[in-house]
Amino acid sequence: MKIVFIYPSFERHADSHPELRAVVPCNEYLGPPSMGIASVAATTPPGHEIVYVDDRVTVFNPDMEADLFALSFFTPAATRALEIGDALLARGRKVVMGGIFPTQMPQEASKHCTSVVVGEGEGVWPAVVQDAERDDLKPFYRAGPLADLGSFPPPRLDLYLNAETDTHKPDDYPLQFTRGCPLRCDACVLPSVMGRELRFQSEDNLRAIMTRLARAGKLISFTEDTSVMAMQGVRRRFREFLALCVRMQAEGTPLRFSYLGISMPMILHLDTDLLLQLRETGIDRFYLVGGFDRITRDAFGKGDAKAEAQAHEAIRRCHDHGIDPYVSFLAGNRDDDAGVFDRMLDFADESGVELAEFCISTPYPGTPLWREYEQEGRIFDRTWKRYNDANCVFRPHHMSPDELTRGYLYLWREFYKTRRADIVSREEHARRTIQF
Ligand code: SF4
Repeated sequence: MKIVFIYPSFERHADSHPELRAVVPCNEYLGPPSMGIASVAATTPPGHEIVYVDDRVTVFNPDMEADLFALSFFTPAATRALEIGDALLARGRKVVMGGIFPTQMPQEASKHCTSVVVGEGEGVWPAVVQDAERDDLKPFYRAGPLADLGSFPPPRLDLYLNAETDTHKPDDYPLQFTRGCPLRCDACVLPSVMGRELRFQSEDNLRAIMTRLARAGKLISFTEDTSVMAMQGVRRRFREFLALCVRMQAEGTPLRFSYLGISMPMILHLDTDLLLQLRETGIDRFYLVGGFDRITRDAFGKGDAKAEAQAHEAIRRCHDHGIDPYVSFLAGNRDDDAGVFDRMLDFADESGVELAEFCISTPYPGTPLWREYEQEGRIFDRTWKRYNDANCVFRPHHMSPDELTRGYLYLWREFYKTRRADIVSREEHARRTIQF
């Protein structure tokens, strides 16, 4: 069979608010796709032709001929994905949907495709392919118990690397060191998609992925903030991983890193040895997820002095160890009133944060926040493409949706008024523009 994997496009911040392009170099860098398709494609039984289409780069043409079309997407891409599904079904094609959104909203996805994969795709994909060959696709495929990551082959990075063009050449690709999370941050969908047990990638797969990326001259990013958690032996495993990186570097594999996802509470609980080991390995930037944890919520939402001091301490620890903190500020949390925007800007100025992005709190389907806001009747917009951290889709507690959106734009404008000039080279730009 000819199988076409499609990564549907979605709006980024400056697509939703073109005025941002005047204040910060938004959308000049198109990041890599998520690893979902590469991971699932790797489990395709032998004997099939695989084609990969990045709809963000080349708009997908539904007249394309193939035996099976597979779309993997998160909520921001759902509007476009469901549209593609409809266009393919109208042409009599077989369409399978999987990923975060179909896992959380299987009934909604099922109206736009032949089959929905609910949960982790790798385990069930071979059965989907077999059923498609027999013309016997089921409406739903549910993933079984969460599998050992080492039992899956390494992701088909070649699909992404071969699809690069002159205008789309990401400088960094993500490496998934773990999957799952035992915590329950109310705005995070990860535990309900990947499970509450942390699972580790195998050393063989880590080696294979890193070698491939190094050979391609790519930077490696760790997008999840679970790599350095202080539980379930994660730190020990992560230290072993860093030691592996140093060994590979000594063996001549030129590993280079883009950033490590982390939060302020985690930074405060990192021991100095680990910070030093991170620097020794070449990790010199933290992508600091804000607005999910108690410290950042209290510091910016309530102006709580103790939390603010802790936030300053977290940034100081980064600077003291030569690690550049890239802070993602999330506005619109429960305690946030109209003063939150200036509190964030003051904090950034006082702590010396030179790189930041700003997001609007978004109740993504499947998160505890989504359920809570649904019950409270706060959600007024279900246009999935507007679920991209750049639009307000709910009624905030202490301001109007308009005030929140205006405050978000104010944050971008004010923060980059004095900082834009130092974004220089393309690679540096890539390292500096992760989300938007
Ligand atoms: S935000 Fe991070 S720590 Fe919180 S639930 Fe999600 S993955 Fe876990």
